[in-house]
Amino acid sequence: MKTTNWIWQSGNWVAWDDAKVHVSTHALHYGSSAFEGLRAYSTPEGPAVLCLKSHIDRLFHSAKIARMEVPYTPEEITQVTLDVVRRNQLQSCYIRPLVFRGTGAFGLEGRGNPTEVVVFAIEWGRYLGAEGIEKGINAMVSSWRRMAQDTMPALAKIGGQYINSQFIAMEARDNGFDEGLCLDTNGYVSEGSGENIFLVIDGIIYTPALSSSILGGITRRCVFELADVLGYEIKEMMIPREMLYIADEIFLTGTAAEITPVRSVDRIQVGKGERGPITKRIQDHFFGITSGKMPDRFGWLTPVYVENVANDLVRSFDGR
Ligand code: PMP
Repeated sequence: MKTTNWIWQSGNWVAWDDAKVHVSTHALHYGSSAFEGLRAYSTPEGPAVLCLKSHIDRLFHSAKIARMEVPYTPEEITQVTLDVVRRNQLQSCYIRPLVFRGTGAFGLEGRGNPTEVVVFAIEWGRYLGAEGIEKGINAMVSSWRRMAQDTMPALAKIGGQYINSQFIAMEARDNGFDEGLCLDTNGYVSEGSGENIFLVIDGIIYTPALSSSILGGITRRCVFELADVLGYEIKEMMIPREMLYIADEIFLTGTAAEITPVRSVDRIQVGKGERGPITKRIQDHFFGITSGKMPDRFGWLTPVYVENVANDLVRSFDGR
């Protein structure tokens, strides 16, 4: 991990090595946290955070679902998220806001503990490898299913739920694959261990709906916006596993994974076994905008050093 100098911990800026919690911290025992992952991209106008408002909104939604009171406003966490990039003088980075139950009241239920918040940033390259972005990755369908609708709230980004993702990712790596895909409890395609999934068949793009136990990905939404202006139809539907084997193209989306093509699933080649043309076109526009080379037509970027833009965004949180 490429660490940085400063971490914001419940209201204070502390040095990386000093940002500590007690071993009795509730979240450490029971996974009671809500978190986000954002990226800041380097642009000719300086660093800019991608989809800042959507991420802060999702953080507060996850905390609400987990019944954790966040002792800061979305405006405050938004400012801190920009500040962590500035204070560490980063050009591009991955940013991790984390809300968690601290310590004070021992026991499973947890609501007697104070909620703590940290925001830190690290320098992080391509999650599934630089080569993967161009050539595609090899994936397998995991023997682990995504959690059933009535077991855990898949739409919330809650720490403990990531044990499921860890099993999926570990199984894939142990079997020589780059990433694991999982089915929902009905046997339909759900998502990757940390990514949403899209399939292209005969020029139409398919993706599982929110009802297939997926996280409502923010990069997924970017793809919806891009597909719309590029003239592609996206069908959200239940996707039978075997569609993975006959797809012309498959790609994964996520803040960490960005837009990564899949070149095989279960050792079965996807299309021509390389990045497909629709995937490439969507990637070109996504990376064109995030690098600042193409106009930010969807308003995805918040420049870190343009104070008034950041303030406008902060003001746009209405009523919370
Ligand atoms: N699914 C899961 C399980 C994830 O952890 C992530 C990463 N946050 C995603 C999908 C993609 O979401 P996003 O595009 O918002 O990063």
